[in-house]
Formats: sequence, C-alpha cells, structure tokens
Amino acid sequence: MANYKTVVVKIGSSTLTTKEGKLDIANLFRLVSEFKEIIKNNIKLIIVTSGAVATGAEKLNLKSKPKSIPEKQAAAAIGQSILMRQYEKAFESYGITVAQILLTRDAIENKERYLNARNTLTKLLEENVVPIVNENDTVAVEEIKFGDNDNLSAMVAELIKANLLLLLTDVDGFYMKTDEGVEFKADVIEEIDQKVTAAAGHSATRVGTGGMATKIEAAKICLKAKIPMVIAHGRMQGVINKIVNGENVGTMFLPKGK
Ligand code: GLU
Repeated sequence: MANYKTVVVKIGSSTLTTKEGKLDIANLFRLVSEFKEIIKNNIKLIIVTSGAVATGAEKLNLKSKPKSIPEKQAAAAIGQSILMRQYEKAFESYGITVAQILLTRDAIENKERYLNARNTLTKLLEENVVPIVNENDTVAVEEIKFGDNDNLSAMVAELIKANLLLLLTDVDGFYMKTDEGVEFKADVIEEIDQKVTAAAGHSATRVGTGGMATKIEAAKICLKAKIPMVIAHGRMQGVINKIVNGENVGTMFLPKGK
C-alpha cells in the first residue's frame, strides 16, 4: 500500500448511472466491495457522491435531465435518500457504518461552520464511519452553491487534509494533444499550464455536471494544498486498490516535491 492515510473518492454521476439513466446499483456495490479492502488496510475513506439528481429524475420518470431549479432540487431531494439507502446497504454487508453529510459552500467559507464540518468529519473517521458527502442541492441557491462535486471534493480533501483525492468518471484519464495534434492520455501533470487548460476545454463527460473543466479547477485546489489528485475510470475493475497501491492508472496531478 502506498502511504495514504486519508483518501477522498468522488464518484461522478456517470459512474453511478446506467446508459438508460438508471441508478447503477451493481457498480455502486462493486465499488463498495473495493472500498472495504482499503478500509481493512486502515485507510480512512470519505466518499463524495453525485447521482442524487439523476436518481431522482429516474424515480420521477423524467425523460430528460431536469432543467429548472425547483425540478432539479425536487429530483435531488428524492434521489439523495434512494442513493444513501444503497450505500448503506452495500457497506452494511461488510459491517461498515456510513454517515450522510450535505454541504453548501458557506460551510467551507464561514470559519465557524468550517471548523464544525471538520470536527464532524474527523469524529466520524475516528469512529471508523465512512462519511458520504454531497452538495445540499435541495437548499443550495446560487450564492451558497459549489455547483459541482469536483470542486466540492477538492475542498473536502483540503478541509480534512487528505493524502489523495480520486475522481472517478467515465473516461480513463486526462487527454491532451501533442503539437502534431495526436491525442494521448497524460500520466502525470505537475502544473496546470495553458496546454492543460486548453485540453480541458474540449473534453466532457456524459452525465456529470462539470466535465473536465471542473476537474482541472479541482486539480488547482489540490496542487495548491499539496494533495495528489487522480482522474480515473469508475468502471475499471480494481481501480481503487490499483491507485492506492501506486499503480500507473488514470492521470495523476502531482504537487511538486511529492
Ligand atoms: N450534487 C449533484 C447530484 O448529486 C451532482 C453534481 C455533480 O455531478 O457535480 O446529483
């Protein structure tokens, strides 16, 4: 095992929904079975999950993604509890307790609330509970919104001083182009320069909110906080163990000197 004590894993909507837009319970259970392996090896895990809006939309039989704010917030309210029920069931089968944490941006920006959120997360980890974080979509208005879980997960990683942030998505890493225009997957990125920013502009993921642009924003937060961040495919078998064991999977954003 590499030297990771605390790991934040963000699971994107694309990893948690099927092509038909249904909650992908099989993949959720598969990931949890991988999580239990790293927990067994004394790694503290925090999950940042997406998928509440998509799950609520499924329940409401919506034909397309909810668009208006009340529609999205209603879908999130419905989907969040369905999602948590599945996490709870999956972790329960290994005797692991989970906790739900719903945050808005002011919980990180307001000093008192920041400390409070940190104390709660720390306490849960001490008790070997897996905190499962999402944005509190139901009440999040523009001023207090993170807007996407990539940024939220980077802020949570910073808050808890994690040793690694892993973003699971529907691509196997961050793709760039050589000067000749040939596409390649970057293995390690140490700096968010103009080439990286440009490459992020034209890649997107299928279901999630942010695509690559918000993942690069998350990488900036992590590089500044000296936390390595990896983008990897959320459907790769053994992805969690591979990354925690330092295998060359996905794309790692590596702070200088790490
Ligand atoms: N909080 C949203 C949800 O649970 C997801 C936001 C995102 O995908 O970045 O549906």
